[in-house]
Amino acid sequence: MEQLRGIIRDIPDFPKKGIVFKDITTLLSDARSFHRMIDLLAHRYLGEKIDQIVGIEARGFILGSALAYKLGTGITLVRKPGKLPYKTRSVSYDLEYGSDTLEIHEDAFTPGAKIIVADDLLATGGTMAAVVDLVQQGGGIVHECAFMAELEFLGGRTKLPEGKVYSLLKF
Ligand code: AMP
Repeated sequence: MEQLRGIIRDIPDFPKKGIVFKDITTLLSDARSFHRMIDLLAHRYLGEKIDQIVGIEARGFILGSALAYKLGTGITLVRKPGKLPYKTRSVSYDLEYGSDTLEIHEDAFTPGAKIIVADDLLATGGTMAAVVDLVQQGGGIVHECAFMAELEFLGGRTKLPEGKVYSLLKF
């Protein structure tokens, strides 16, 4: 786990001054680290009878699709506005400045489906909290929110359903 933590690169002042950006591309591009990260996460859910993975644009698609393949499920995409071609449901949420919106196809999973929502990194938790709403509005049961990494000092997990958050690497 220390090896995986160590391979994530810190980029100071990106995308703006004062933010230390966790660059996960170094983990993704290293074959052993990428496989290990996916295997560790998938292992947690094997035997849990997960019905569907929901991945959040864009880096959540990477983790989400590899997990879905390993668990034998499909993946549902949560995308930025105007990208999904069929009928959508949407959710808006507050950012530090302004707000953002995410969309999901209204027939993206069966109501009652047991779902893992996947994203690369848990920061303030606003994005994942909005997606949990979107999934629940569609009748999905959120089994767990899964992340490669978590910035614990931001306390994002307090915005998410209690006991339903898992991150592989903590910073
Ligand atoms: P949040 O809604 O604050 O939890 O932020 C969620 C999204 O922003 C995640 O999908 C991350 O990809 C990205 N993000 C936020 N802060 C960082 C950071 N310090 N390093 C890398 N990605 C970040």
